[in-house]
Amino acid sequence: MFRKLLTFDEAKKVIESQFKTKPLGVEEISLLESTNRVLAENITANMDIPPFNRSTVDGYAVKAEDTFDAEENRPVVLHISGTVNIGELPETTVTKGKAAEIVTGAPIPEGADAVVMMEHTTREGDQVTVFESATKNENIMKAGSDIKKRETILRKGQLLGSREIGVLAALGRAKTKVFRLPRIAILSTGPEIAEPGSELPPGKIYDINAYSLCAAVLESGGNPVYLGVFPDKADELRGALVRALACSDMVVTSGGVSVGPKDIMPKTVNALGKPGLIINGIALKPGKPTTVASIAGKPVFSLPGHPTSALLTFLLFARPLIQAMSGRTNEKPQEVKAIASMRMFPAKGRRTFIMVKLKTKKPRGLVAEPLPTSLSGAITTLAWADGFIEIVENVQFIDAGEPVTVKLFKNQTIC
Ligand code: AMP
Ligand code: MG
Repeated sequence: MFRKLLTFDEAKKVIESQFKTKPLGVEEISLLESTNRVLAENITANMDIPPFNRSTVDGYAVKAEDTFDAEENRPVVLHISGTVNIGELPETTVTKGKAAEIVTGAPIPEGADAVVMMEHTTREGDQVTVFESATKNENIMKAGSDIKKRETILRKGQLLGSREIGVLAALGRAKTKVFRLPRIAILSTGPEIAEPGSELPPGKIYDINAYSLCAAVLESGGNPVYLGVFPDKADELRGALVRALACSDMVVTSGGVSVGPKDIMPKTVNALGKPGLIINGIALKPGKPTTVASIAGKPVFSLPGHPTSALLTFLLFARPLIQAMSGRTNEKPQEVKAIASMRMFPAKGRRTFIMVKLKTKKPRGLVAEPLPTSLSGAITTLAWADGFIEIVENVQFIDAGEPVTVKLFKNQTIC
């Protein structure tokens, strides 16, 4: 099949123009299942939080002015009018010269405007001796001081984590509207690929790509659907791809896209529907044979078999689309500035990505050290890399000591 390499920028444009880059839909799910999901609605508080004035300490609810003269050696004695139980409306009120016993979180009884901490009091029968003066509102959390009724507290597009879910729970919501997760079908190809968990027959290697790609899909906000390993046989591959398309919003395959006689993936994908292949090779290193098809509007990314190439091309081309489909539009790759540890050359005429490890070296600060590329099939290239440096087509080389931008694989603290 004739192969016309697109430049990196051309390939990006083709993908952007060809596919829908917005969330696929909205679903309502239980709050307990909402972690790492993207909110599909603005959340406006329908109540004050806290809903009532509450005590922030254990002690005595008082009228502040009754304690104004209280000091360590000149305490004030107040009469206890009752006890406020937590979780109930107070049955007691506080009038001049009186105090009500109260615990943290209990509602402030009528008439009281401060709480004296237990530690500043002693009690004998119905009398409490107060050794420190209290100011108005001291140790009281006012109704609505945390969240005000009608305040927009969370916004559409926010990723829900423990803090946001806590806010939703505070408002009494058991369900949330979130964007539907895009389903991403993943399959591997090649007769040499074996499933982890089984005995490894001679001449075979374990499937790396399906697992690292499934993890990358999860990290990108998608729901991976793993379909298995398929041989380089047109019929079986075609059947697998048809099933993959039927059960997903996007298909990601690895292997079988080079120029060997068994590399039948581009041809097989192209025959699945219109318009078929929209990208058949990109001037990239690594990842040159990457192909992309659009089959009835669904993207099919056929990535090279080498694990580093497969994951890198996934991150460059498929991940942004998955993020858009899942509503994770705010997520940008994390970058850090570093110094190149040595001279680095790009592949002639190709956008080149160099996997680097970051090290802190005195006095230079963060230094980016390329991982050996001679072993392009090596999984350790990926495992040890903190991120990658991008060298554009017209640059001859990056010199040792030159400042570089490293795109990180994940948000991390480099030490
Ligand atoms: P291919 O693109 O099929 O020619 O594969 C290129 C290289 O990547 C070969 O050495 C394959 O054995 C290897 N490879 C292909 N698929 C996988 C996979 N799923 N896991 C690990 N290595 C793979
Ligand atoms: Mg293969």
